[in-house]
Amino acid sequence: MEKVTIVTGGSRGIGAATCLRLARDGHRVVVGYRSAAGAAHGVVDAVAALGGRAIAVRADTAVEDDVVELFDAAAERLGPVTGLVNNAGIASTLGRLADVKADELRRVMDVNVIGAFLCARQAARVMTRGGAIVNVSSTAATLGSPGNYIHYAASKAAVDALTLGLAKELAADGIRVNGVAPGFVDTEIHEQTGDPDRAANVVSRIPVGRLGTPDEIADAIAWLLSPAASYATGATLRVAGGL
Ligand code: NAP
Repeated sequence: MEKVTIVTGGSRGIGAATCLRLARDGHRVVVGYRSAAGAAHGVVDAVAALGGRAIAVRADTAVEDDVVELFDAAAERLGPVTGLVNNAGIASTLGRLADVKADELRRVMDVNVIGAFLCARQAARVMTRGGAIVNVSSTAATLGSPGNYIHYAASKAAVDALTLGLAKELAADGIRVNGVAPGFVDTEIHEQTGDPDRAANVVSRIPVGRLGTPDEIADAIAWLLSPAASYATGATLRVAGGL
């Protein structure tokens, strides 16, 4: 059976690196994106340059109809879906909870929690021949991110609960569900924090003394999707340089 894997938020950062890594493993890849059409098509071209097959599909993962259409497009154009990387996510401006606006709380929960649940639900509906799901969490889920964005940390704790519960719910259907919890990775997401020195400011807290690269996270995701991880389900793998 062909491996057909949807990567949400595949246009840049960890998602884009994962698309290329999976293409090298022989997956047909759906590059999901919300707004960056040019970047998503650039990832499709890069997959083609590797000899792989990919398509770009616009879908806001927080919108139910978009998610259904994303999975429909994948099945119609590449074949039955066998994999999902639930990667699309947003950060937030840094600050204390006392100062967070309700709209910002709702947006983070909408994308990071509702979006991840809608995608996982659709995968559970269509993976009738088995498959694998990897949810992208964060070390924030277990650190709490005090003074930065407790709501983002809480949204990723919800993703961890999704991983645990859905793994048990789908085990008998031959669908494995795991998570990867990155620490600080060198991507554009940190621009959303409003701190231009975010990367430099966090390095001193990382035991290995540097940010992670998107490729280092992609390798972990690819392993969890692969047959080499056939007995792993319900696990969230921390890839965080000791954080
Ligand atoms: P990034 O560079 O900002 O990329 C985010 C991707 O998600 C983009 O492709 C973006 O699409 C997409 N996206 C955002 N909101 C979306 C929505 N509502 N619907 C569909 N796509 C959406 O972020 P990243 O650093 O690679 O992060 C990827 C995942 O890793 C996130 O879940 C993040 O929370 C998690 N993570 C990152 C770090 C880190 O340090 N970088 C650490 C821990 C966890 P468009 O470009 O089209 O808008």
